Amino acid sequence: MKLNINNISHSYDVEVLHDLKFNLEGYKSIAIIGVSGSGKSTLIRLMSGMEKPTFGNIDINEMNVSSEEYRKKIGFVFQNHNLFPHLSLKRNITLILEKTRNKTKEEAETIALSKLKLLHLSDQVNKLPKNVSGGQAQRASIARALSVDPDIIFLDEPTASLDPILTHEVLTAVEELKGLGKEFIFVTHVLSFVRDFADYVIYMHEGRIHEYGLPSILDSPKTKELKEFMRKVR
Ligand code: ADP
Ligand code: MG
Repeated sequence: MKLNINNISHSYDVEVLHDLKFNLEGYKSIAIIGVSGSGKSTLIRLMSGMEKPTFGNIDINEMNVSSEEYRKKIGFVFQNHNLFPHLSLKRNITLILEKTRNKTKEEAETIALSKLKLLHLSDQVNKLPKNVSGGQAQRASIARALSVDPDIIFLDEPTASLDPILTHEVLTAVEELKGLGKEFIFVTHVLSFVRDFADYVIYMHEGRIHEYGLPSILDSPKTKELKEFMRKVR
């Protein structure tokens, strides 16, 4: 992945990201870590193009992230599964494919079933989100993100609302996707997953990229803030 963050600042009522400049090339799976409120979700939303920075711009793989071309190439998995509650797991996927990707009913069905199978949900496809476990619902939303065949998959704390067993189940399913040739940008508090899955780590602190590098920075943090963070999360 080629990532160019060009002097972005972002404000809601106050400024929460402060003039980030960051260029990176050659990694496929980037983890963003940091305490609550440090700006991780804001940054990942800006990188996905879902939200526009107050100042500056971001290019990923040589595309401006607000371009239509880029938007077609990404998938996003939210903290809470975000599935339509009144639709089955399968229909949650076929609807997107029919409405946004011009797939026929039959094509949409084939894709939905194959992605749900990949996430080990073949026996749950006709259930409503409320009738499956939190882990299954979150895996269905990963299947939905994959269904549009994105180049990059964003995940913002996909296991934040899950217990440790379901967290493990979901993260194992994500690790199994490694062979698909996709790129990943994700936020998580599960450092064992960062070590296993990320090939690059960005540590956010108070709206800035405070420390960054290979996952080995977790073992020998340079800044006192990352040292302290590592003490608190584990
Ligand atoms: P993190 O994901 O690391 O917890 P966020 O990016 O969600 O951090 O938040 C960074 C800061 O921006 C926090 O102070 C948060 O309260 C604020 N913030 C995030 N989203 C909004 C919003 N939609 N409106 C106002 N403030 C927000
Ligand atoms: Mg967040």
